[in-house]
Amino acid sequence: MGSRAQPLRSICIVGGGTAGWSAAALLSRVLQNSGCRITLVESSAIPTVGVGEATIPPIFDFLRNIGADELEFIRRCQATFKLGIQFRDWLHRGHSYWHPFGNLGVTINQRPFHHYYCKNRAEGHGETLADLCPSVALAEDCKFAFPSLDGNWPGGAIAYALHFDAGLVAAFLRQHAEAAGVERLDRRIVRAERSDKGIDAVHFDNGESLSADFYIDCSGFRGLLIEETLGAGFEDWRHWLPCDSAIAAPTAAQVHRAPYTVASAGAAGWQWRIPLQHRTGNGLVYTSEFISDTDAHKELLGALEGEPLGDPRLLRFTAGLRRRAWVGNCLAIGLSAGFLEPLESTSIHLIHTGLNRLLDLFPDRNFDPALIAAYNGDVHREYAHIRDFLLLHYAPNRRMGEPFWDYMRNLELPDTLTEKIELFTRTGRIMSKRRELFADISWFYVMHGMGLQPATTDPLVDLAAFGEVRKIIGQLSATMRAFRAAAPTHDAILDRLLDPAETR
Ligand code: FAD
Repeated sequence: MGSRAQPLRSICIVGGGTAGWSAAALLSRVLQNSGCRITLVESSAIPTVGVGEATIPPIFDFLRNIGADELEFIRRCQATFKLGIQFRDWLHRGHSYWHPFGNLGVTINQRPFHHYYCKNRAEGHGETLADLCPSVALAEDCKFAFPSLDGNWPGGAIAYALHFDAGLVAAFLRQHAEAAGVERLDRRIVRAERSDKGIDAVHFDNGESLSADFYIDCSGFRGLLIEETLGAGFEDWRHWLPCDSAIAAPTAAQVHRAPYTVASAGAAGWQWRIPLQHRTGNGLVYTSEFISDTDAHKELLGALEGEPLGDPRLLRFTAGLRRRAWVGNCLAIGLSAGFLEPLESTSIHLIHTGLNRLLDLFPDRNFDPALIAAYNGDVHREYAHIRDFLLLHYAPNRRMGEPFWDYMRNLELPDTLTEKIELFTRTGRIMSKRRELFADISWFYVMHGMGLQPATTDPLVDLAAFGEVRKIIGQLSATMRAFRAAAPTHDAILDRLLDPAETR
């Protein structure tokens, strides 16, 4: 019989951005009736980053976990639907490709469809992703459909996420958390005190202080507790992902709001376009070593559709992660834990996986080092997986003679990514691991989009008579044409959902 657990009596969350209020909303729900007091400290004088506007499909798991109503969330956060990302000019100027959410074709003879797709292309047939992937077909037409519940193709192969206004999301989460008993203090923390357990207390500018059993550092890039106080250290990945700056400049809402994010490659980085109900989010992510702030600013303004609403905002960051996200009684969540450029909209997701992992490894006041080590090891694996996926968008580029793109093409890649690319280009196989965020099909979309092709075919795929495969592809394309023609526009779906009479 082990020793009795000593449950946490109090939690102090430092920071009220997306990370802080996500933590507060989830923990207040899970710990309701536990007697554990949750206090969130934020300073209204210190702005949040607040440009996190694009998400990936697991966002809905988080909304369910905090007990939020999806429709209310969409209405209050000015959200639109996202079927994937269109990448423009990444392989070379004038080229574009999709990383859609959702599946491609149907499984044949227990082999995933991407193998047949490659074989079909190699045999000279012209069907594209838009003929065989419902999310691409809908996105190309600015249409939208919810996944069909029966799971049948094509409706069952759709997956989607949201674009939203991050400031409104924080307000939404705050309301949930406060309703569940979280106490909010608007205070500036001037100092944190260490103890042999980690953090002993945080001190405010009005002379007061607060002590808790457990601290969650959501203070943003600076890492007020985890780095400035506990010195957890930072693993710098700039040599792989050199983008270190962004300028954000929202414009008016699109007349027809697109159900997808656009990521357009630029001279030394890339530009996002994220359509919301009430405005369009735009920004340029760039590498200061390859382009000046002034030129980046010009590049962004030159590519905007419409005038910016207000002054463009400059942000600096460093790719990488804390060497230890959890130290003693202090856990970093959000930007204080690390940052990878927002090319695949993974930051808010990392907040949520961090919180889910905390629930899996929830401590008592003994803070068992085994829990902490398991957490930190898992975070590192998760970041490395996403880092590799991001690098895949850059490494195979053919933008010859452009200094930034030449640099990215000639990078020494992590072995894990080199092995993945080799396995695919030699054999068509991908082999993502269970629990990894990006499954085989996502890797396929980006590898295919960036011009990588398998040299050989899976022998099990060759077992299926190609004439039969052609017949299936013909049927799928015909079904897709009808499905695509009948689907409503994204605007029509939004208008219907935003109608106050709608209670879906
Ligand atoms: P912040 O938003 O920085 O919040 C920090 C909080 O700490 C604030 O409330 C502040 O008041 C408080 N604080 C700090 N110091 C003190 C102090 N001394 N005393 C009291 N309070 C203090 N993510 C996505 O998922 N999708 C995207 O499309 C996306 N786009 C992005 C684009 C860019 C250019 C950048 C930089 C990030 C993007 N992100 C995106 C990431 C996303 O914005 C962040 O992950 C998210 O906003 C979480 O931020 P945070 O809450 O950790 O930190």
